[in-house]
Amino acid sequence: MSSASNRHATVLNSGPSNTGSLPLKSSKHYAQAEDTTFTALSSSVDGDASKKKIASISGGLSETMDETPSVRTSSALRSTLPTASPTSSRYWDRDTSRSSLISSSASHADENKKTAVNDEETEGLCGLKNIGNTCFMNSVIQCLSHTNELTKFLRNYNATKSPTSKDQQILYEFSKLIKEMWTNNVHSVTPMELKRSFSAKHRMYSDYNQQDAQEFLRFFLDSLHCALNTGVKGEALKIDDNLSDNKKAELTWEWYSRLENSLIRDLFVGQLKSTLRCTTCGNTSVTFDPFWDLSVPLPSSSRCKLEACLDLFIREEVLDGDEMPTCSKCQTRRKCTKSFTIQRFPKYLVIHLKRFSETRWSKLSNIVEFPTGERELNMGPYGANANSNMYFSLYAISNHMGSTAGGHYVAICKHPVSKKWHEFNDNLVSESLSEHHLVSSSAYILFYERA
Ligand SMILES: [Zn+2]
Repeated sequence: MSSASNRHATVLNSGPSNTGSLPLKSSKHYAQAEDTTFTALSSSVDGDASKKKIASISGGLSETMDETPSVRTSSALRSTLPTASPTSSRYWDRDTSRSSLISSSASHADENKKTAVNDEETEGLCGLKNIGNTCFMNSVIQCLSHTNELTKFLRNYNATKSPTSKDQQILYEFSKLIKEMWTNNVHSVTPMELKRSFSAKHRMYSDYNQQDAQEFLRFFLDSLHCALNTGVKGEALKIDDNLSDNKKAELTWEWYSRLENSLIRDLFVGQLKSTLRCTTCGNTSVTFDPFWDLSVPLPSSSRCKLEACLDLFIREEVLDGDEMPTCSKCQTRRKCTKSFTIQRFPKYLVIHLKRFSETRWSKLSNIVEFPTGERELNMGPYGANANSNMYFSLYAISNHMGSTAGGHYVAICKHPVSKKWHEFNDNLVSESLSEHHLVSSSAYILFYERA
């Protein structure tokens, strides 16, 4: 464990079970070892994580380290034929619709202007062919493709002709794909080369089994980050315990940023504050850890608001019995409370709705009502510093339809220019959807942009 995440262990030693410390390890995350598919593990935050041992971070991922990956991939998650989309009747043939729009223009000047506007509004409306259960990948790529700053960067990225690492190969293929997807009149591309380069690094993806979209997203972002990382390994983090929480947070972030320095970190990584409080003497200790997404639990009600999930994520938990940490003031193991708040919000906030059980044998189909409009999600109440608003706008959703036994992924994304929503079902792109179609029991990963 690195010093950053180990600070709870030193301040409030949690004993052999180590449940008192945040299960977010920094050490492994920084490793750029090839062929390890687990580098992204440590960078996620799991709402229920404190209930588990460190080894079981983030449900789905830890399973891949078990002896049972074949069970999981071969039967539990195998995709059947793509299920019919609820909006399938809305798909259109883009080849025919474009020409009619342009031919109706009155003058040449008008025509050119209209074409330019029309071009900008249709760029990126590009499907991705399914090359064998790859809808999980297609869905995530569409969400990333609609992440403005990332796509802007990739469209201008001059990749080296001969990438030196597997991660750089992935970045190279991804930027190539994004350039194609954002070329006018390209309506569908085949992400074969990207799949191949990704599988070369992450071998569990080398077959054609259905995979989990969120897990893929973490590995994928981790690869992009590693390919772009200019960070340097420095000394261990040492922070004076007498500093204010905000100062500690700032120094921890600076330290982390020196180590992990890439556009991907700039865009997607936030900072989580966890607070342990001794119920006997009131002594508190805080730790600050980076997060790449928030994995939020679902309440038992069949319908709830996203805020209810976020409340569950940050709610105070009691660590008692075997889980009791050692209080540094009391010098003995004490019942403690533990809670999370968000110290630093990322530019792009990824919220993962934990629909799948730890074992992946069951899936929750609750409807979570999430804010869909501009500046409609206020994350302020979850921030470490009270009384501030922090507005986010939804721009993409990765939907999982079906059960654990057979399912299908699609993406619903907001076009950056037209601001219209479209569904991307592998190679099919729907015509624009109304905002009422966005909330459904299929919503699995939500992508928000800070307003
Ligand atoms: Zn105490």
